[in-house]
Amino acid sequence: MHCSFTSSGGRRAAGFSPGGRAWLQPPGAAVRARLGNTIRPAAVGCAVGALALCVSQGRAAVRVVTTTPALADITRQIGGDFVDIDSVMRGPEDIHNVQAKPSHMMMVKRADLFIHSGLDAELWAPLLLKGARKRELLPGGDGNVDVSRGITLKEVPRRGEATRALGDIHAYGNIHYLLDPLNGVIVGRNITDALKRADPAHAEAFEARYQEFAARLRDLAGRLEARTKPYAGARVVVYHRTWPYFLDRFGLVAVDEIEPKPGVSPGPQHLADCVETMRATDTRVVIVESFNSLSNAESVATRVGGQAVVLAQEVKALSQADTYEKLFEYNVETLIRALEATGKAKTPSTPVAGDP
Ligand SMILES: [Zn+2]
Repeated sequence: MHCSFTSSGGRRAAGFSPGGRAWLQPPGAAVRARLGNTIRPAAVGCAVGALALCVSQGRAAVRVVTTTPALADITRQIGGDFVDIDSVMRGPEDIHNVQAKPSHMMMVKRADLFIHSGLDAELWAPLLLKGARKRELLPGGDGNVDVSRGITLKEVPRRGEATRALGDIHAYGNIHYLLDPLNGVIVGRNITDALKRADPAHAEAFEARYQEFAARLRDLAGRLEARTKPYAGARVVVYHRTWPYFLDRFGLVAVDEIEPKPGVSPGPQHLADCVETMRATDTRVVIVESFNSLSNAESVATRVGGQAVVLAQEVKALSQADTYEKLFEYNVETLIRALEATGKAKTPSTPVAGDP
């Protein structure tokens, strides 16, 4: 009898979700390394000398490395004790600006599955995979799992429209799709399928846990949609174009962005233009990510008597958002408080350009 832990060399085919969209380099794309990450030590799998213990305790079978804490949390909820999980990102970083480090490469090298967002979300991931030198984790390999399969993307550029002039990120559509909890249901499905292929012995357990996870997310989405219904149509300004999935799900409207283009820092003139937009549209709340400049956001918000609020763009970006579900609870309640505090709690009466 063998321990369920295996090296990747013993893995059977499967795990790769095609989609065909991942790893395409956008025009002018570059890995804009800025933030250094530290990682927790990789989870310890079953040592050879502990085979009996491993079997008796049903220890982890599949070693998973995810790019983000959100993907790690979803994998944990579905995989339970049958997976060892590590995430490259810790949470507060900008997904567009993570530095691929040798320690990350070692982490990936130990993985059976590499789970990522696809598209051009993690421009640093190809460097990690190259450094890990593990063929099955490369695009097209059995262990490369692109969870964007099945997601209806927003802001997909028309053919020929994706150029550096539009910013050098989001070249295939907006990558922040996990900020709609119902997209978490789709991502969970992709992860479940990958886990089943990687560890067929626990397929039933993965499926059962997935069904519970999906039910929890649908309940959460329904509950928070009811919570935000009184604020339908309320307007906000966003810092980065992180929030279209979140705002659409909960009935809110972004009227401007602090970044002039995705990934581009604002100058004084653009900040002044944002203030004008807020005045013209009777908007009082600015949403800023954990890694972006709160002072820039506040400089705009305070000039119209409003507030800048930091929301969790990623699981563990803020301590209050330490699971995928808590991220939504925290963001919705924080946003509602800001809308209430700035007198923008109710649907504005004056339409803005573009309103139906
Ligand atoms: Zn982005």
